[in-house]
Amino acid sequence: MNLTQQLQETAKNMANKPAYYFMDQMSTYAELDGAVTKFAAGLEQLGVKKGEHIALLLGNSPHFVISLYGALRLGATVIPINPIYTPDEIGYIIKNGDVKSVVMLDLLLPLAEKIHLALPKVENYIICETPQGKSSDVDITRLSVYPKLKSFSQVVASGSLSYKGPELDHDDVAVILYTSGTTGKPKGAMLTHKNLYSNAKDIGDYLNMSENDRVITTLPMFHVFCLTVALNAPLMNGATIIIDPKFSPKEIFRMVDEYEATVFAGVPTMYNFLLQYAEAYGGNLSSLRLCISGGASMPVALLNGFEKKFNVMISEGYGLSEASPVTCFNPLDRPRKPGSIGTSILNVENKVVDELGEEVPVGEVGELIVRGPNVMKGYYKMPEETAATIRDGWLYTGDMARMDDEGYFYIVDRKKELIIVGGYNVYPREIEEVLYDHPDVVEAAAVGVPDPNQGEAVKCYVVKKNPDLTEAQLLEYCSEHLAKYKNPSTIEFIEELPKNTTGKILRRALKAQVLQNQ
Ligand code: AMP
Repeated sequence: MNLTQQLQETAKNMANKPAYYFMDQMSTYAELDGAVTKFAAGLEQLGVKKGEHIALLLGNSPHFVISLYGALRLGATVIPINPIYTPDEIGYIIKNGDVKSVVMLDLLLPLAEKIHLALPKVENYIICETPQGKSSDVDITRLSVYPKLKSFSQVVASGSLSYKGPELDHDDVAVILYTSGTTGKPKGAMLTHKNLYSNAKDIGDYLNMSENDRVITTLPMFHVFCLTVALNAPLMNGATIIIDPKFSPKEIFRMVDEYEATVFAGVPTMYNFLLQYAEAYGGNLSSLRLCISGGASMPVALLNGFEKKFNVMISEGYGLSEASPVTCFNPLDRPRKPGSIGTSILNVENKVVDELGEEVPVGEVGELIVRGPNVMKGYYKMPEETAATIRDGWLYTGDMARMDDEGYFYIVDRKKELIIVGGYNVYPREIEEVLYDHPDVVEAAAVGVPDPNQGEAVKCYVVKKNPDLTEAQLLEYCSEHLAKYKNPSTIEFIEELPKNTTGKILRRALKAQVLQNQ
């Protein structure tokens, strides 16, 4: 089985069940599957072949879902790209990823022209009408990319419902996800049909997803967390997804209420925004049976505050692009442990090892490594990076973790973000947890900065709730809760912490800022 076969099955068994809601549209599973088949057939008519690479430059929308499943049905490899990347970043991925066709919003037509001039090997630009009705005002006939432009709706209209598609091998690459890592150019993690199918199935089963679920899909679909947890897993289980093009707390409260949503998936900063909003303006989430958190560590104080306010459980999990992504989740049928990423999900093994790859004793910190059907085939055209990351069949995650005697894992921090103060290891997360516990702190991030005496010192950035809070008060508070060497040397208050489009706090950007100012 693969994702697109699974969609066909669901469409047969639950033809009239709503597959998604988007703005004022609703599509049943039969309609969605029909659009997917026709899009695949339309692509074939354009000359797109099995194994070719198609980039999606799309926000959360039905266009994304239809293009993804349609391209997979044809046996093409999909490369989702964050549409707000700069032209250089997008150009790099299109070139490195050997992209032949691009599906994009019409608002991005000027970008299509740029890509076409720089990379003439791209053959097709399939242009989607902007959902909000604000199309680009470019006169397309004057563009040199004009002969390569096709309209998304025409591609769908030209396809036939009787299209069957080729046989797909489970080891064929279904999706390539460009992941930036901490250094260097982005690398393309190749995820096969088996990787994506198995992870969506395993996490769906682990979290009891069913046709009774209505899932808020607000995380960006081009990111692996959304792709597997809030798109593929719900569709595989006949659930309904409520597609949100842009996260805003107000909109989430409205959608949860209107659609009686049962599942919400988000990164910790989204939970923080929802809580802050509800404290100021009110809001309830009473129809939710489950909140899923991942992508970054969930501060325990935030988890407790959110659960108390909304009376719904947050289950935290962990994953990374290279593992399609999920490896661990807090179980629903056993105790959930705040601060933990839970236990290994079905079929996936997690282990904590030392520098030599030997498993460390329970409770000790080491690198988290992972093995299972979800682990990527490798990085596209980067055999050396692949060999450094997958060793003896185990994926080295670059995250430091420990496991307790009940098999629950705790992410300590990223290996590369470790701060070394006078020879002692300081993990930023530990400091941030203490800061989040302070009633006047909204958000916090800790980074290492060069220090002439200690090698590195801890600097914290804090968004405060109470304008009267001073640096001295917060330093005093830290000294009461942290060992001396872990104490921040300085705390800077800022309006907002830098975040990526998934909502993850970018400690790297803060560190770069410090280094620049020196
Ligand atoms: P990405 O490949 O963009 O999904 O990023 C994966 C990285 O996000 C992991 O290697 C972790 O560093 C981080 N991450 C994901 N989930 C968690 C979590 N629950 N706690 C801490 N870090 C996490």
